[in-house]
Amino acid sequence: MKNYDRLIFELSREGRCGYSLPEGSWEENTGCLPQNLRRETRPALPQVSEPDVVRHYVNLSGMNYSVDTGFYPLGSCTMKYNPRIDEELASHPGFAHLHPLQPEETVQGALQLCRELSDCLCKLTGMAAFTLNPCAGAHGELTGLMIMRQYHISRGDLKRTRIIVPDSAHGTNPASAAVCGLEVVQVRSTPEGLIDMDHLRPLLDDTVAGIMMTNPNTLGLFETGIREIVKCVHEAGGLLYYDGANMNALLGKVRPADMGFDIMHLNLHKTFSTPHGGGGPGAGPVGVTASLAGLIPEIGRVSAFHGNFGVLMKAYAYILSLGRQNIGRVGPLAVLAANYVKESLKDRYRLPVPSLCKHEFVYDGLARQDAGDGQQVTTLDIAKRLLDYGFHAPTIYFPLLFHQSIMIEPTETESLETLDAFIDAMRRIADEAESSLGLLKSAPHTTPVRRPDETLAATHLKLTWKS
Ligand SMILES: *Cc1c(COP(=O)(O)O)cnc(C)c1O
Repeated sequence: MKNYDRLIFELSREGRCGYSLPEGSWEENTGCLPQNLRRETRPALPQVSEPDVVRHYVNLSGMNYSVDTGFYPLGSCTMKYNPRIDEELASHPGFAHLHPLQPEETVQGALQLCRELSDCLCKLTGMAAFTLNPCAGAHGELTGLMIMRQYHISRGDLKRTRIIVPDSAHGTNPASAAVCGLEVVQVRSTPEGLIDMDHLRPLLDDTVAGIMMTNPNTLGLFETGIREIVKCVHEAGGLLYYDGANMNALLGKVRPADMGFDIMHLNLHKTFSTPHGGGGPGAGPVGVTASLAGLIPEIGRVSAFHGNFGVLMKAYAYILSLGRQNIGRVGPLAVLAANYVKESLKDRYRLPVPSLCKHEFVYDGLARQDAGDGQQVTTLDIAKRLLDYGFHAPTIYFPLLFHQSIMIEPTETESLETLDAFIDAMRRIADEAESSLGLLKSAPHTTPVRRPDETLAATHLKLTWKS
């Protein structure tokens, strides 16, 4: 157990110093600073020695949880292991030190990489063209929907301002549609967790721009009616947008263009390496079929220059290091891992949709939620207790279709031993819910921060330490 109490913040002592600048150079270099920009008093920085600083930050970093320290079963986000070689190549000085305004003849290698990455993405998705510009999945959604709108406008079809989004969709889908000026119409899911065709059909009229879908959907289920959906939407004059965040399950096996989608994004930071916990950086390239290729934005139109080039590099390295043979093994292994966990715990956790899942699945809390004496064991209690067992919590309270959602995605790189350890922890928590409820309700017990008041933490966020 780590001793977090040893982490002291007030380390400053008058006169301690962790650097030494060359004699005199400071005076010389500040000579060119205009007088009105110069400081008159010393900045109130901590005075600390180098070892103190190094230890402080190394100890702080040890309080982080990451995919490099343990299993990270966060559903919908695909927190995959990021191969070291991808990082190594992306930090190669020849690429990392490029400036976007360098003369073109000096950046041919980088441009070639972008071109070859686009070609790989086209092969993997069946799309005809990609823009690498968008910097996140949500950014890709917005870009793709703008392409969809422009397609209708360019044909003089101005009535099409409504977009259909399933009730299981990721929150960014309706948000991007709204930012794009489209009216969001929700389509219901069946009890089996798939799009309800009887609800969809009457929604499809000449005001519909298209539908946004992810397949496998956000419950981890493959939309088996996809051909019928494509046929109906196309017949009604709409286009199909594919949210590629769940592409991990299909990589090298199924191509969105073959399913009938017209526009899509990929989350390179989910499916193709790049650590993205904590919010970035990302890349959300957008691909389109041949008839829409003319509507793809030019470089620099939806983000500065070429987008997040480092993320593009990692995706390129990831694809090439797996190669044509192995890339098709990612999906099946991820699917196997997810189904293994799902089946191993379904006697203790409520499984609202029991069918074969793709790379992720959803429990709706414990099978026995009522702990007697009127107390309920919630998904939050389970997630907090998992931290004590050394696991990152799964995604909780999403999707919104169930009250106690626990969404689990193991990814393809986790060993059987890791999956078994996770299953064991989840079973022990189910036992504790029956035998020692207090332990669950007050968890976590071993983390540097215990259970904060979530509302206060969000509304009165403290970003600095004051003793
Ligand atoms: C992550 C995710 C998104 C949004 O992607 P960002 O890169 O986080 O903007 C959209 N849809 C689904 C299904 C996702 O999992």
